Amino acid sequence: MSRIEPKLFVVSGPSGAGKGTLVALARKRHPSLGLAVSATTRKPREGEIDGVSYFFLSPDEFKRRVDANEFVEWAHVHGNCYGTLVSEVRRNFDKGSSLILEIDVQGALQVKEKFPDSVLIFIKPPSLEELEQRLVGRGTETPESIALRLENARGELALAERYDEVLVNDDLETACSGLLRIIDAYERN
Ligand code: ADP
Ligand code: 5GP
Repeated sequence: MSRIEPKLFVVSGPSGAGKGTLVALARKRHPSLGLAVSATTRKPREGEIDGVSYFFLSPDEFKRRVDANEFVEWAHVHGNCYGTLVSEVRRNFDKGSSLILEIDVQGALQVKEKFPDSVLIFIKPPSLEELEQRLVGRGTETPESIALRLENARGELALAERYDEVLVNDDLETACSGLLRIIDAYERN
């Protein structure tokens, strides 16, 4: 029988591709999968809870933590700072199960440098038109923020080839099964 080995999975893709939705569904089906809560200087959206959705930090507090080496990685994304705290990675690994980081492409490449065994998974939308529709449909962004996210999507999509796995999130159920298959395959390797 093959052994299950906890792994670090990094999920990236353009804003609106469906990363959050997909990861939440995958975690319902695979409840032991941990998810690191990132820190950000972005303002909370309606319904977001500090310490659950993100650790919402002021720019000064974020900088203090960068200077104190408290981040595994961090990056400027869509006009704000986002980062993965060392404490979050430790907290999850102490539980002995696999961990997902849902972070941008710059952060993902930093994680791969530090942890070569990590598995980078890129989530693609079926098309840029569908990406725009999802961002509009989510109803969380201003028109300016949508424009910025769509502009950044092109550069992000160009980096998909540096990922270990690429998954198209067209039908949600199919994409979720695909994500769980990838996780299972790497945990057994
Ligand atoms: P991300 O985390 O990548 O920014 P979200 O998970 O917030 O993206 O998804 C963006 C929007 O698209 C949400 O309104 C979500 O309900 C919707 N969505 C996600 N996956 C799909 C899918 N496979 N088909 C249609 N809509 C989707
Ligand atoms: P949002 O503002 O929509 O929640 O997230 C915007 C972008 O920030 C997404 O591409 C998301 O993957 C990225 N992001 C979220 N957390 C982190 C993090 O800890 N580090 C990095 N580098 N990017 C992150």
